[in-house]
Amino acid sequence: MNKFEEYKLIHQPLTVIDDILRYAKTGFDTIEEEHFNLFKWYGIYQQRPKDGYFMMRIKVPGGRITAQQLRLLASLTRQYARGISDITTRQTFQVHWLRIEDMPDVFAQLASVGLTTLGACGDIVRNITSCPVSGLDGGELFDTRPTVDRLQAYFYNNPDFANMPRKYKIAVTACPVQCVHPQINDLALVGAKNAKGENGFHFYVGGGLSTQPHIAQNIGVWLPEKQALDGARAVSEIYRDSEQLRERRTHARLKFLVAAKGAEWFRDEFVSRLGYTPEPAGPSTLADDTYRDHVGVNRQSQPGLNWIGCCVLAGRLTDRQMAAAADIADEFGDGELRTTNLQNLLFPNIPTDRLTDAQDALKAAGFEWDVPNIRRGALACTGIEFCNLALVETKQRLKEIITYLETAVETDRGIKLNVNGCPNSCAHHYVGDIGLQGCIAKLPNGEKVDAYDIHLGGQLGSDPRFTRPIHRKVPADSVKYAIENIIKRYQETRDGDERFSVWVHRYTNEQLDSFLGVPTIQGAPDVPASAASV
Ligand code: SF4
Repeated sequence: MNKFEEYKLIHQPLTVIDDILRYAKTGFDTIEEEHFNLFKWYGIYQQRPKDGYFMMRIKVPGGRITAQQLRLLASLTRQYARGISDITTRQTFQVHWLRIEDMPDVFAQLASVGLTTLGACGDIVRNITSCPVSGLDGGELFDTRPTVDRLQAYFYNNPDFANMPRKYKIAVTACPVQCVHPQINDLALVGAKNAKGENGFHFYVGGGLSTQPHIAQNIGVWLPEKQALDGARAVSEIYRDSEQLRERRTHARLKFLVAAKGAEWFRDEFVSRLGYTPEPAGPSTLADDTYRDHVGVNRQSQPGLNWIGCCVLAGRLTDRQMAAAADIADEFGDGELRTTNLQNLLFPNIPTDRLTDAQDALKAAGFEWDVPNIRRGALACTGIEFCNLALVETKQRLKEIITYLETAVETDRGIKLNVNGCPNSCAHHYVGDIGLQGCIAKLPNGEKVDAYDIHLGGQLGSDPRFTRPIHRKVPADSVKYAIENIIKRYQETRDGDERFSVWVHRYTNEQLDSFLGVPTIQGAPDVPASAASV
């Protein structure tokens, strides 16, 4: 058992809230170093450079948030977080600049509208992600919201699952596109009908990215919707009780157990935990193409209603935008909003006869939906602005790259551009079309500059592949030109409607490198990347 495991046994992580409230009175300088790690269970991390300020992540299960909750978040963002808040790739909100003294009021205010940070970080069930148009989309197999709610209610503040070997991510989807990317979660429930046409789920286990990416494996069983929680509990128990995973923290994710033991072994364990034999899974329902950015105006499955998906580049919102979004959702919709795992924001349930007025209000608040394709699918992690593991800047860099590309190239379909500040892949650069992994390069004159390894060709769905690193240590200022070059080449030579990632796989690394057109930095030594995993 590694040292942190021993520590977790002594200090039950769910009780750390008492310590947080105590430290709020005694001050930052009184916090015991070891307690910082347990703060994560309540969604709090020290932000870079660990000088008294905290990041806080607020859970939004399934990406569904009410106008009242968003308005409260806007107010907290204004009061405590210097006016900025980020939508994350797990559909949560993340704020910065909080002080330990702020925590009691922040927690109380969040609780007053039914929001929580419990389980947003730490070795626990993280925010459960789901399709942001669940219940709205005519193409979905069925509405997954009841399943998300059932799982959320069961795992929330559940002491039986509050000390997992490591972070534990669950996704639920019954959308044919699977834009929620179930295969990179520890556990994914993927909608499928059985031979009788009943709604239910296939179970995928052991996915995850970080520094060692794995694709989740289908364990070959089907459970009806009503028994989805039985299955989720069985998988969670297997993970929780895997003592060998608690030996090395760097190898404690479920993916390592699944990779070592295999899907068949996992299915046998699953059945024994379940206590009954589930139906075998029918044909796979994985999608051919999982690209969907939810940006634009779309008709809902409910006649006369629409959702508008707005592009929030790098996920960053101001408190004013958040407050305006809440007002717009109240005035033109039914007071509900959705966050997406591409860091965008959706306004559902807008009547057709109010669409024009809603769009005018959105424009006035700085929201956009009719944007170039290259902007729609862009993602950025937190990066060096606040993240202790970061090597380089991400969000501002993404804005600079996108602003340039919008004038330099035209794309007639979405391309996923994922910008990460280190190898940990919080912005999923292993599964983007174009993934940038932050690093430091040393120029021939000895100067050290921000740089990115350029990865190409990630895709999920029925033929999953991780990106291939094509060119290492491209100075950050040159990256946009390399991306321009490769997109132009793609546009010129692709076969009809061929996706970017499929086009990439026609070529060798050397060919792709030549398409990027960036010179190699001669003699640049490797600067060790962060090997830590968050
Ligand atoms: Fe931080 Fe790295 Fe994750 Fe970005 S990918 S948020 S830099 S740990």
